[in-house]
Amino acid sequence: MSDHDVVIVGGGPVGLAVAIGLGLRSRRCLVVERRETPSPIPRGQNLTQRTMEHFHFWGIEQALRAARTIPPDYGIGGMTAYGTLLGEHRYDWMKRELVRPFYFTDNERLPQYATEAVLRARAAELPGVETLYGWTATDLREQADGVAVDIRSQSGEVRTVRAAFAVGADGSRSLVREKAGIGETRSDHDRLMALLVFRSPELHGLLRRFPGKSFFCVLHPELKGYWRFLGRVDLGSTFFFHAPIPMGTTRETLDSAGLLSAAIGADVAFELQHVGFWDLRIAMADAYHAGRIFIAGDAAHSHPPYGGYGINTGFEDAVNLAWKLDAALAGWAGPGLLASYGAERRPVFASTARDFIEAAITSDRDFLAAYDPVRDPAAFAAAWAARASGAVGEVHAFEPHYEGSPIVFGPPGAECSAKGAHRHEARAGHHLSPHRLPDGRSVPQSLEPRFTLLSFGADPALVAGFRAEAHGLGAPLAVVEGPREGSPYGASAVLVRPDQFVAWAGEAGDPAAILRRAAGW
Ligand SMILES: Cc1cc2nc3c(=O)[nH]c(=O)nc-3n(C[C@H](O)[C@H](O)[C@H](O)COP(=O)(O)OP(=O)(O)OC[C@H]3O[C@@H](n4cnc5c(N)ncnc54)[C@H](O)[C@@H]3O)c2cc1C
Repeated sequence: MSDHDVVIVGGGPVGLAVAIGLGLRSRRCLVVERRETPSPIPRGQNLTQRTMEHFHFWGIEQALRAARTIPPDYGIGGMTAYGTLLGEHRYDWMKRELVRPFYFTDNERLPQYATEAVLRARAAELPGVETLYGWTATDLREQADGVAVDIRSQSGEVRTVRAAFAVGADGSRSLVREKAGIGETRSDHDRLMALLVFRSPELHGLLRRFPGKSFFCVLHPELKGYWRFLGRVDLGSTFFFHAPIPMGTTRETLDSAGLLSAAIGADVAFELQHVGFWDLRIAMADAYHAGRIFIAGDAAHSHPPYGGYGINTGFEDAVNLAWKLDAALAGWAGPGLLASYGAERRPVFASTARDFIEAAITSDRDFLAAYDPVRDPAAFAAAWAARASGAVGEVHAFEPHYEGSPIVFGPPGAECSAKGAHRHEARAGHHLSPHRLPDGRSVPQSLEPRFTLLSFGADPALVAGFRAEAHGLGAPLAVVEGPREGSPYGASAVLVRPDQFVAWAGEAGDPAAILRRAAGW
């Protein structure tokens, strides 16, 4: 007999998100987190519109927005500059607002410790979620009917906890990944990076000339496509800064002032609060689960913070995994449902790394090698202007989808990928667009955490077939009736998964075959 349904090792953003997803479904889970309080390093700050949809479903969208450290009337946009921040060439960074019509809520930006505080507070409200802060997992092993995890408190108390499943959300040096025997594939860029967190009211004064901008990326030919990257942690004084530094640099030899003035293009007075180092690399686990042990977030994949994908990818892992673990615990998951977690999420990360992060480094490197404002000002100006569109192509193309998933009715030969295209019609394997219901709410916003059949005048026999099959399987299904005429989704029947992705859309079909496949049978 297990003490818990799921034990989650790591109570960072992703572990807490898994716990909340399970707790909202009345599952009993235990979070083991070695830190008493969240790390004070700002880290993952950019939260996409999709991530904010998750916060809506977790019941903490307003709490998260209230925790913002930059006032709501000040923008959270970014800027790319050439040479130095105060130099003469600059343009707006990725304009994520371009895809806002495809999600039902706005993006957000706040330091990761503030996000984690909101998640911790929500987890504390859910009766099924138990948290052990200040405890470290030291070993785990799969047993016949579950997983046993050895944990140790800061005072040296030792326990073994048991659960039907374990989730490792324990970051890039994951103990769970290692103990589960899951390897990882790395692509090293042989770059050592410095991370500075500092206070500088003087820099804030200099940045007044860029109203509404909260983060700044500096391209320099010497850096071959790697960025000097500066961002606000609050409005007025605190900043973080990442920059490539020579291999072998140590805390003693790091020239923080020189690095900062090279990026800014001016000397500013600053007070250092934190100095860290990290290796610029992309790492992906070779599998996302082994038996009853799953990994999510940075434990499964890590990459440099270019493009702000990291924490958002981790949250989508958590959402994908939580409904599938719940289904397995409830007994309606088919044998393929849990394996579909990795089948869907792994290729999405591989594509994020390849098609967005590494592609951006290569594109910046090629641009810097080809154009020089001193050597050929006209050619540089033309090429710079061409890049100044706010990365329209990249923003539109970042549309993680599961077209190739074994539990989705996607087109033949399709693959799961981060690269897609935003559309308002319902397509199998894609996120559901927020068309409005007659009462004004968007359709996805009104969904419960279960399968939903959207019917826009669909054949009553088809709807009845879905109801009967769901009842037979024991899978929770809601039916939402929209207006009978003119489905905004391009199909009169749309089966939506508990994570707001479309499993199937059409006019006619075999409800048993559709629902069984969506449940992993
Ligand atoms: C310097 C830096 C800057 C970044 N900037 C950005 C950014 O701008 N945008 C972005 O999207 N992402 C950024 N990231 C990435 C982002 O922070 C991560 O993607 C995110 O933290 C992943 O969340 P996680 O919960 O998977 O892992 P983590 O945040 O690493 O959390 C793992 C948790 O597990 C705990 N833990 C580990 N081992 C054990 C154990 N054995 N027992 C118990 N607990 C354990 C840790 O204490 C930690 O709280 C940055 C990362 C770094 C390091």
